[in-house]
Amino acid sequence: MDRDQLTEKFRGLTIWKANGQRAPHKPLLVLLALGCLQRKGQQELPYAEIEGPMKQLLEDFGPPRQTYHPEYPFFHLQSDGVWELTTEGGIQLPLDRKLPNAGVFREYGVKGGFPEPILEIFQEDPEAVRVVAELLLGAHFPATYHEDLLQSVGLDLEIAGTAESTTRIRDPKFRREVLLAYGYRCAVCGLKIEMQDKTVAIEAAHIKWHQAGGPDHTANGLALCTLHHKLFDVGAFTLDPDLVLSVSSMAHGNEGFQRWLLDFNGDRIHRPALSELAPQPDFLQWHVREVFKGKGRYELNLN
Ligand SMILES: [Zn+2]
Repeated sequence: MDRDQLTEKFRGLTIWKANGQRAPHKPLLVLLALGCLQRKGQQELPYAEIEGPMKQLLEDFGPPRQTYHPEYPFFHLQSDGVWELTTEGGIQLPLDRKLPNAGVFREYGVKGGFPEPILEIFQEDPEAVRVVAELLLGAHFPATYHEDLLQSVGLDLEIAGTAESTTRIRDPKFRREVLLAYGYRCAVCGLKIEMQDKTVAIEAAHIKWHQAGGPDHTANGLALCTLHHKLFDVGAFTLDPDLVLSVSSMAHGNEGFQRWLLDFNGDRIHRPALSELAPQPDFLQWHVREVFKGKGRYELNLN
């Protein structure tokens, strides 16, 4: 196997997808395993050891859910041919091998890791680690997540610019049209900054992520300053179909938090002059369901 064949295997991870729901379990497990390999040279990860960190990753970078299941990717990643499970002394597990079972994984000290040929490439070729990590970041998470995620899994990479999405080509007009529609201002705080006629720190955010199939269309975009872009992508606030802003009950902070976020709770954000360019309700509903965390401090009118 060479680096290209390896990359293809990770590009082809089967991700359970239904109704636009996010399932970042497998990419998160691979990134965690790459981090352990790079940092500690650890090749096999006992389930009991990674259960806690995986839960935390799912909570921090996954969609809001009632419960989190680290055992799912730990088991199902096997079927992609990039992961294998072993037990101490090779004992057979007393369970239906078709189902993940956290209790059995813990009790029998089940370990997971990359199979030998894949492990060898990662060990001998640091570039392969970077390529696969960038591929997974670009395909499953918006750019505002990349640095935080790498730090959380302890992976040290020089990410060259923004990782390319591998599934679709981005439309370069998206940024221009979104910024124009909002008059080059942040839709939340109204910030507008230019340096030598060039707009800075104002970004075109996707409401429904590019990685979840959200289109590069102005009605799926918002012009947001760097701060509000990040806060929107991590689910610290969302918008109802009337474009009223609601801050998450899980977000807290000091007087800066009050001033830069909480003060906008219950406000209608700035809208484009042309109503057909305004955010479309189904994209906003996706954000509420798949990104927004906790309860809204302003009660969302979702109808
Ligand atoms: Zn702003």
